[in-house]
Amino acid sequence: MEPQQRIQMTLTKTKKQKPNFAQLEFGRTFTDHMFVMDYSEDKGWHDPRIVPYEPITLDPAAIIFHYGQTVFEGLKAYITKDHEVHLFRPDKNMQRLNRSNERLCMPQIDEDLALEALKQLIALERDWIPTEKGTSLYIRPFVISTEPYLGVAPSTQYRFFIILSPVGAYYKEGINPVKILVENEYVRAVAGGTGTAKTAGNYAASLKAQEVAEEKGYSQVLWLDGLEKKYIEEVGSMNIFFKMNGEVVTPALNGSILEGVTRDSIIQLLKYWEIPVVERKLGIEEVYEAYKSGQLEEVFGTGTAAVISPVGELRWQDKKMIINDGQTGKLSQKLYDTLTGIQYGTEPDPFGWIVKVK
Ligand SMILES: *Cc1c(COP(=O)(O)O)cnc(C)c1O
Repeated sequence: MEPQQRIQMTLTKTKKQKPNFAQLEFGRTFTDHMFVMDYSEDKGWHDPRIVPYEPITLDPAAIIFHYGQTVFEGLKAYITKDHEVHLFRPDKNMQRLNRSNERLCMPQIDEDLALEALKQLIALERDWIPTEKGTSLYIRPFVISTEPYLGVAPSTQYRFFIILSPVGAYYKEGINPVKILVENEYVRAVAGGTGTAKTAGNYAASLKAQEVAEEKGYSQVLWLDGLEKKYIEEVGSMNIFFKMNGEVVTPALNGSILEGVTRDSIIQLLKYWEIPVVERKLGIEEVYEAYKSGQLEEVFGTGTAAVISPVGELRWQDKKMIINDGQTGKLSQKLYDTLTGIQYGTEPDPFGWIVKVK
């Protein structure tokens, strides 16, 4: 059977009132419907369906509550000025969902079916996609383990969901550099751990450092490697890039860094523009040396939510680095304009990254 014929649809009887799209807070408002599909050992993935968005009932012993066996994804749908709906490289998110599933001993999902479900759900919820500049519909696919069992073992039952949330512009008045604290005590992930998977535990583990950084007046932390605490990994829940000594450097994937779709897109764009870009091990000491010799030009985080998040100040122990006078750099701005231009259909898409929702 073709995937589109397999998805059952039950429409809501009471549509919610739409929020004020000019004042959306990230991740607080959800649309009228969601996609759900179940897994059991004997049936595999079954019963794919679009149903009204509503609370769910789970056994208090469900494995998800105790041992956190769960994975998620995050991507967005954008409305173009020609009223088309664009997804940005959604196949990459579905592939990563399955890599996360594999790491957490969870069953593989049919990526074509997941993408088809996503498209049908978005087509149904089209009125929920905000149209103002910079706004979008955030898409959260996730899988939870539902078997009621207190033994530490992979669940034999799962549920896959896709929920949608209209979100406002990340930057209301142009992109804005942030202050970052280099984290010396806590670590986000270690090689061999689950850092390469989008799984709940990594984010729970990151909250403490984030709390401490905020108390000190910083907006995020820069994570160093968990073994030697010397090498740069990520910033908050974004990947990170440094423009220094005539090239762009980003930490190489090392078994604890999450492989961002935005990261990959930026590497491809830089290569296309013939700007030197390298993925390698990068020490915080080396960055500080580049700063002292005036060679550290730009630093920016990358991820679906902000696209590009410039770093204006980097604090490492007692050393303070002010980057590009605390202003957004030229390359950061150009990458932001190009990527968002491709997403909103105002720039050409030379890589075929856009998938349209019919
Ligand atoms: C999701 C995520 C990213 C960014 O990935 P994108 O696919 O670019 O959104 C980077 N680091 C972490 C830890 C993440 O969870």
